[in-house]
Amino acid sequence: MAKRIFRNIVLTAILTVLLAAAVIVPSLYTAHENRMSSALRQEAGIIADALELAEDDPAYLKQLDTESRISLISADGTVLFDSVADAAQMENHANRPEFVQALESGSGESTRASETLAKTTIYYALRMENGLVLRISDTRSSMLGTFMKVLPMIVGMLLCVVLIAFLIARQTARRIVKPINELNLDNPLENDAYDELAPLLTRMERQHTQIHQHVKALENARAELAAIMDNMREGMILLDKNSTILSMNESAARIFGVSGRDQIGRNLLSVSRDADLHDLAAAALHGDGGNLTMNRNNRHYRIYASPVMQQDKVRGVVLLVLDVTERFAAEESRREFTANVSHELKTPLTSISGFAEIIHDGIAQPQDVQHFAGMICKESARLIALVNDILELSQLDEKQNLGQKEKVALLTMLRDLTNDFAIPAQKKNLALTLSGDEAEVEGYPTLLREMFFNLIDNAIKYTPDGGEISVSIENTGKQIVCTVSDNGIGIPKEHQPHVFERFYRVDKSHSRVTGGTGLGLAIVKHVAHIHNALVDLASVEGEGTNVQLVWRMQLN
Ligand code: ADP
Repeated sequence: MAKRIFRNIVLTAILTVLLAAAVIVPSLYTAHENRMSSALRQEAGIIADALELAEDDPAYLKQLDTESRISLISADGTVLFDSVADAAQMENHANRPEFVQALESGSGESTRASETLAKTTIYYALRMENGLVLRISDTRSSMLGTFMKVLPMIVGMLLCVVLIAFLIARQTARRIVKPINELNLDNPLENDAYDELAPLLTRMERQHTQIHQHVKALENARAELAAIMDNMREGMILLDKNSTILSMNESAARIFGVSGRDQIGRNLLSVSRDADLHDLAAAALHGDGGNLTMNRNNRHYRIYASPVMQQDKVRGVVLLVLDVTERFAAEESRREFTANVSHELKTPLTSISGFAEIIHDGIAQPQDVQHFAGMICKESARLIALVNDILELSQLDEKQNLGQKEKVALLTMLRDLTNDFAIPAQKKNLALTLSGDEAEVEGYPTLLREMFFNLIDNAIKYTPDGGEISVSIENTGKQIVCTVSDNGIGIPKEHQPHVFERFYRVDKSHSRVTGGTGLGLAIVKHVAHIHNALVDLASVEGEGTNVQLVWRMQLN
């Protein structure tokens, strides 16, 4: 700003000075010229008169003390006398304009530039009465010479102007800039600046309001997006085309064990060094979406990479991270289940087909046929029990054919069940008791019966002769607890976490003897889950087992 003001002032000043010089120098020059020529005229008249008095003796001219050059020229142009040069050496002056004029009209005047151009000589010729021409000349500065004379003055003036311009420019710039620098940009209209700034301040206020509105809209949109992203269970990472992280939600940060905010602006490498993940992101950056499965902290994740396209160009990549641990586990257990089912079905079938083949081929002794037929019956019963349990479990898995939910009186149901188990209990000389108050739960009666059947059946199976089995109900109003406890063989500690798994048996041979399928407790767990009941198993090897089902009442 200061520079521009300075330049403008200097330019104006220079122009002014030059213009002034252009006007003043010629008028000065002309005035001076006029003065000189009139002085020459006067001097010529005086000298001519004096010369006449001296009877036209050129010697008279010699003694004159004057700065002008005096020449006396005869009518034919011959120089008779010259105060500066030797007259005899001088050329004929017949064609000099002032001389020609003087001969014609009595006086003549002419001006000629000297060799240096800086000087001009003014000639004045006067024809005297005796016919001779008296010529007086004087040399003075030419226009250029005059200009050259005033040039130092002009330069001096210009230097002064430059200095003054510099000071004025600095001062003016300060006065213009200071209020601008001190503007309160947050509230433009509250500024008390000079009037010329008012339109600018009004525009700034308008833009300020617009920017404020845009920023607010953007912030709202970003907050909305962040809220959506952060509340997603799925992890989401947004990368630009250099694999730099633009955005990362809370779930993704948790899955990769990093702080989401710190990762913004960093490369994907800072989140994971998994080569497959980087290959996946790189492929997406080339436009090929894909997915992969990754294990982290004992959990399984499926990562989907999709390119972000804009005007047919890949601008970045979205990585979506899904936790598929449960699905993975379900698939795994389904695979295991299928393998186990095949195996479990094969064992009784092999026995049945073996005994049947012996009888069919007539190899069996007649007295053994009954025994073999009995074995076939036993294995068939086992097979049926197994198939029933498998069907039951698959229905529970699919939540199919569960029937209608209704109020189930647990004590009544357990009384029926214990009555049904009276004979098997008697066979092993077991004391089977039932105690407690009536309690109602909402549920599927068949399933609940099946669940308690399995628990009492297990208690009878795994309690040696003469043992005790007690079934009880406790209803506190806050919760209902059904307990099936025995003082049987118990379950070793290391097996306890697994007994609810399908086909898991602590002692395979014992379970086979007792006709167990290994699915009883799996069904119990499933039915309890469907009825929002908790299963709690406590067992001590050699002392007995206690299984509790707990219904927590929902208090309004
Ligand atoms: P099973 O048909 O073999 O009894 P379950 O799923 O009912 O299968 O039980 C799984 C395993 O847990 C059994 O094989 C047995 O070893 C153990 N078990 C279940 N209940 C009892 C109990 N009351 N006392 C001792 N062991 C038990």
